[in-house]
Amino acid sequence: TKSNNNSTVTNSLRSNPILHVECCLKTQSTAEYEEIQESVEKFLREFKSSVLCYSEITDFYDIPLLGEHLENMKVAEAGGSSDDSEAIYILDDVNLDIHVYQLEEDEAVDEFQEEENVLAANHWELPSRALEGLWDNLIFDNNVKTRLIEYVTTTMLFSDRDINPNIISWNRVVLLHGPPGTGKTSLCRAFAQKLAIRLVERYNHGGKLLEINSHSLFSKWFSESGKLVQKLFQQIHDIIDEEDCFVCVLIDEIESLTASRKSSLSGADPSDAVRKNVLILATSNITEAIDVAFIDRADIKQYIGLPSQKVIYTILSSCIQELIRVGIISTEETLLDWRAAELYHDATSNNHEVIPSMKLFEISKKCQGMSGRVLRKLPFLAHAHFLQSRKTTKLSDFLDALDKTATEESSS
Ligand code: ADP
Repeated sequence: TKSNNNSTVTNSLRSNPILHVECCLKTQSTAEYEEIQESVEKFLREFKSSVLCYSEITDFYDIPLLGEHLENMKVAEAGGSSDDSEAIYILDDVNLDIHVYQLEEDEAVDEFQEEENVLAANHWELPSRALEGLWDNLIFDNNVKTRLIEYVTTTMLFSDRDINPNIISWNRVVLLHGPPGTGKTSLCRAFAQKLAIRLVERYNHGGKLLEINSHSLFSKWFSESGKLVQKLFQQIHDIIDEEDCFVCVLIDEIESLTASRKSSLSGADPSDAVRKNVLILATSNITEAIDVAFIDRADIKQYIGLPSQKVIYTILSSCIQELIRVGIISTEETLLDWRAAELYHDATSNNHEVIPSMKLFEISKKCQGMSGRVLRKLPFLAHAHFLQSRKTTKLSDFLDALDKTATEESSS
């Protein structure tokens, strides 16, 4: 009713947004994906009028087929929405895209552990149990995660339609660069997992993530002879050649690879391997321009900077939730989400229920300049330095300890 005439017109032209729902099958389940998909759609449409993005749905356990076969059900993002934050969608107004998947239980396999015993690559079957939850626990500004998904959606569409790459060019290379510890490697892994879940129907043989550690691969040892490198890329080619399998190749710290490229890599450019079923994900800690042909090919060059105060608050808040979950922090109080905390802060509220959130607000301000990696260690340090003998602690005491630790870390 708020919409004026103009937006009514645009709304009627626009088709309904697609809401993605991810359903994880129990390991032992042998249910047909399609059957589960249908029954999830029916369940949601019959029992719910609206759902919240990025939320877990837990009341399906009494539904016969679903209770028996599903491990969990999550509402992910709405396609085409430019916002990463939580939003409520009326089910009548959305198309549902329901993704059913089953996790691979195996840990990563070390590959190519040739003569010198240097670990040059890891190999994961996707979607992997070890990577579950990683995506949801990575927090960024600027819709970084949604943009990555949208990029691949377009890539898939262009490939499906056989668009002539001489007319419209696109590669399958994504580069994440920025300071160390900001979540680039984790994001690549989580993204590969996400894609494997989203592309189940397309590739019968599932997905794989090949993780190449350029640093160990191109250590001094190998740059003298390119033999191992050649072999590695041959093996990558073999894996990629397997039809009907989706492969993400993650090249970590690509700057070390490109530095030795001339001496060892002639004829073995990893981007030669870019086929229809392959996506190359590269990370670099170099923040200035990387002047190498390989990098030029990246369609998406995403800078991942140090977390903003909003991201810091959200990361620390998630750490505290975890400590509450396991009973190390015992409290009846709750922490506000960032938006509410910011509003209360600006309003200089005296409401005592928001005191913990205001305290965390101040701590997160103090932590500016720290990377995500450092932030996720702070709660541990806080406990070890100031609360070690206590098995449970009050939220206010924990926040005091966290505050002192933040002061120590920011001055060290
Ligand atoms: P990089 O590859 O940029 O050096 P990593 O992916 O190795 O960073 O991140 C190290 C750890 O720091 C991750 O396991 C993650 O727990 C934490 N971390 C870093 N950035 C973030 C973030 N934006 N949100 C949540 N956790 C983060």
